Parts: sequence; C-alpha cells; structure tokens
Amino acid sequence: MTAGRLNGPTEKCGVVGVSLDGRDAARPLYYALYALQHRGQESAGIVTHDGFQQYDHVGMGLVGDAFGPGDLEDLRGSCGIGHARYPTAGSVDSACAQPFSVSFKSGSLGLSHNGNLVNTDEVRADIEAQGHAFTSDGDTEVIAHDLARNLLDGDLIRAVRRTMNRVHGSYALTIMHDDTVVGLRDPEGNRPLCIGELEDGYVLASESAAIDTLDGDLLRDVRPGELVVLEPDGQGFETYQLVERENTAHCFFEHVYFARPDSVIDGSLVYEVRRGLGRKLWEESGIDSDVVMPVPDSGRAFASGYAEAAQDDGADVEFAEGLMKNRYVGRTFIMPTQDERERAVRLKLNPIRSTVEGKTVTLIDDSIVRGTTSTQLVELLQEAGAKAVHVRIGAPPIVAPCYMGINMASREELIAADGSVEDIRDTIDVDSLSYLSIDAVAETLGEHRQDLCLGCVTGEYPYDIEGETTDREVNRPVIGDRDGEPAHADD
Ligand code: AMP
Repeated sequence: MTAGRLNGPTEKCGVVGVSLDGRDAARPLYYALYALQHRGQESAGIVTHDGFQQYDHVGMGLVGDAFGPGDLEDLRGSCGIGHARYPTAGSVDSACAQPFSVSFKSGSLGLSHNGNLVNTDEVRADIEAQGHAFTSDGDTEVIAHDLARNLLDGDLIRAVRRTMNRVHGSYALTIMHDDTVVGLRDPEGNRPLCIGELEDGYVLASESAAIDTLDGDLLRDVRPGELVVLEPDGQGFETYQLVERENTAHCFFEHVYFARPDSVIDGSLVYEVRRGLGRKLWEESGIDSDVVMPVPDSGRAFASGYAEAAQDDGADVEFAEGLMKNRYVGRTFIMPTQDERERAVRLKLNPIRSTVEGKTVTLIDDSIVRGTTSTQLVELLQEAGAKAVHVRIGAPPIVAPCYMGINMASREELIAADGSVEDIRDTIDVDSLSYLSIDAVAETLGEHRQDLCLGCVTGEYPYDIEGETTDREVNRPVIGDRDGEPAHADD
C-alpha cells in the first residue's frame, strides 16, 4: 500500500494567513511564503479579500516564479491567506495548486491545507451522493465543499465544528471566509501551526520563521483541535477549542528533517532539538573517529550536537565540513528514477579532500529513506581516501510510509522496511552504522511516545488507515452525521 493510494498526492506544505490594519496583505503574505519555501516548491498562491470581493493568484514553481510583476498589486485587501505546495514525484499538477477557492451562495471561501486526510474517499462519496461534482482528486476540495455547505447556516464556528466531525486525518489550515481569516489545527495537532503578532495585525503560519520574517512576535502554537479567528483589520483574535483529545500526534519528522532549524514548533526550537538528538546519538552509539562531518545541510545541527557531546566526554575528535554542497542543484529526493537520484547526489555534493584523506570519518545525517544519499556519499568519501567511514543517523529507521503529508516513498523503496540495521550497513558498505532510538527521540522532544506520530518508524499510525494498524483507540468521525457534534466538543 502506498501513500498515493490514499487520496492522491500527499501534501506537506506551508500555509499562512494575515489580518492587518489598513495595509494590503498581499506583500506580507508573499514574504511569509518565501520564509516557508522549504515546505513546498511545486506551486504558490495567495487569496485576499477587500471587504467586497475575493482576489486570487496561484502559479507554478517557487514563490519568486509563481508571481510576476503586478500580480501582488492586483491582490487587494488587508486580509488573506497563502500556500506553498510540496512536490511529490510525478504529481506536478496546476489543478492541485492552492489556496483552493470557491464561491457559494453565502459568500466566498479560500483554503490553504497542510497535511493529508485519511477518509477523503468516504467524505467525497457522501458529498457526491448529494449531487456535488468535484474538480480535483485532492482532499482540500473535500474540506472546502463540506465547509461551504455547512456555512449555508451562516455560523462559521458551528460550520467548522461540523466539518471537523466529518474529516479525519492531518490538517493545519488557514481559511478565508469572505473577509475573515481563521486558522485550524486537527485534533491530534499533526502538522504545525502558530500565531504571531505584528505591529499592525496578526498572522497564522506553519512555522514561526515566517512570523520572524514579518518582524512579528510568536505568541504561541495553535492548539490541537483549536480554531483561531482573526478579527478584521488586525484588531485581535478569538480562539475556540472545538475538539479535545487525550493524546496528540505531533509529527516527530518535522523536528528531524522538515521544519526550518530557526522555527519554534510546539514550544521547541528545532535547531536545539536537532542538536539534542545529535548529543543523544553520541550517548547511544558514539564511536571514536578523527573527524565528525555532517551531510549538508540536513545533518549539520545533529553533527554539531554529536561532536560537542563527544568532546565533552574527552574524545579527541574534530568537527569539520567534509562535503561541499552545490546550492544550485535542486532537490534530489523527488527525482523520478533511481539513476537520476544517484547522479543528482553526485552533482550536489563533493568531498573536501583535506578533511577526509587518511582519516577515520563519522558521517552524520538526519535520516535514511531509500539509502541513495548515504550509499553515494560513503562511496565519495572512500574515493577521497577515508580510512574508515562510520554513519550515524539522528532518527530511527524509516520502516513504513507516511500517510500524513510527508513524501516518504513506498514500503518497497524504503531500505529499512524489511532489512536489519546490519543488512543496511552491508548495503551502503560502511564500517559501522547506528540509528537513534525512538525513546531518545521522544525524550529529546519532551513528549510521551503516545503524543507523537511515529507511523513511519513503527508502522503503527495514530489514525485509522485502511490496511494499516493503529497505535491508539482512534476517535473516528461519523460519516453522514451532518448534525453530529464531536465527542469532546467544547461549547
Ligand atoms: P535517501 O537518499 O532516500 O536515503 O534520503 C535521505 C536523504 O533525504 C537525507 O539526506 C534526508 O535529509 C533527506 N530526506 C529525508 N526525508 C525526506 C523527504 N521527505 N523529502 C525530501 N528529502 C528527505
């Protein structure tokens, strides 16, 4: 079973929303999308509202390419939402570009979604049975149409609550209903969303780095199951805890790989978490070597924590850059064929001979997925004259796909899906290989295991997914129960 079987492409994106006092929202949204560019490079878009009508622009590619001269000026109004969409192999498709916008009887709606529903097909069938036609196969349109129908009653809070009672899975959303911007995080808080204060208004964003870019202050994370409603003209915000669950399901991989190191997510600075994971890696599986080096850029914070812990323990080890990155080469991970991915790793990274030749090297990265990067890099280091190469990985082995929005490859492609660590060591041909334990991840994040989504490293998911096992008693919404309230609704 692949992630693709669920609901079309998985979506690991960046979302933002602002409400400002008088100033046009388009430019701050554009800058915020730049800050969230790492969360999605396939397309970018903005929807604004000036109190009378909705304006939108979406384009393919990076934020800088998706908007041309004059596009921002055409987006009028002091409130709006934005989206940067994550690319998945073979899914470059303008029909999926967001924000998704729709006009309906009682107004207009724009939606930016990060995450992935796990019951899209059921909800879609239910809506289709009532005569509605869909224009895309994405889950965001399902949320948009359900919400639009619930909004016919006119009460936004009630409408959102009803939609939360029908959709199941991972969603961090910024939504614009006429000129009201809201933020919503799924009851398990799987993907991040935070709220910040600007000099002249408020901002909702996937990551706090976007708030920093706008010279704002991070106020806090949006709580799992919480709806945040920004008042018009940036005057303030109101919050509603619509659903409460006993356990969260924060994605640990946001901290390990996906988020920017300078963002604070669920109360922790990502850079410090990665350094902490690196320190734990030394404690669990440190090995003597002449030099510790990161895979740039993903392994850098891990390697600095690892080297620091090693030096604290009296190890005579140097922390050095041994691989130079060509920053003009795009992402290798999503290239469609193995051959291209291998070629791209070689284009992207080149060894610095003086740090490698004649040395025993510990190479540190955040994760191994298919094994392409580590296999190629180990070969490069050996060719550059390394005496021995040890690999240390700042996450547990990835054994199962992600259905919640991170493109992780299918089980067949995952090098750890059915091989032992010793098998992997043998395949990538290194002197030693160790991963971090799941307990070390939970401890460093300061969370209980039950409050994390660990699906990709345990094969047990916090959501009810067809053909997979779950690690908890999931609180599943009732399809077709349009008037039902969530089990833990807080009026
Ligand atoms: P692989 O080469 O397939 O083993 O992938 C591992 C490399 O890709 C590591 O350097 C990671 O930093 C990076 N990586 C891990 N997960 C992802 C992802 N979901 N998307 C893009 N890159 C990733």
